[in-house]
Amino acid sequence: MKTITIVGGSVAGIRSAEALRRAGFDGHLVLVGDEAHRPYDRPPLSKAFLAGSVDEDAIGLVDEDDEV
Ligand SMILES: Cc1cc2nc3c(=O)[nH]c(=O)nc-3n(C[C@H](O)[C@H](O)[C@H](O)COP(=O)(O)OP(=O)(O)OC[C@H]3O[C@@H](n4cnc5c(N)ncnc54)[C@H](O)[C@@H]3O)c2cc1C
Repeated sequence: MKTITIVGGSVAGIRSAEALRRAGFDGHLVLVGDEAHRPYDRPPLSKAFLAGSVDEDAIGLVDEDDEV
């Protein structure tokens, strides 16, 4: 089975993994990140998250039970 490794677990990495699945890739996908947090969307950090109107869950790019 083929394996594709994506380095960087932010929006580009997550969207790349999703695009590979949409395109029919059914091998192993390994997403290598360098952060303690699950992948999150950065723009709200300086907007809604900073203002306190959304919490961590709302800015996550994946859910715990998401299968990519
Ligand atoms: C506070 C803030 C507000 C922003 N607001 C806006 C906005 O309003 N509009 C807008 O268009 N853009 C905004 N941006 C920019 C936007 O978030 C970025 O353009 C976007 O996050 C880029 O996504 P990316 O996946 O390419 O890179 P990044 O989000 O930078 O992710 C790269 C990931 O790769 C990981 N990484 C790097 N090197 C390695 C390594 N060697 N091994 C493993 N992992 C590695 C990093 O830890 C990181 O998780 C904002 C950014 C910030 C920080």
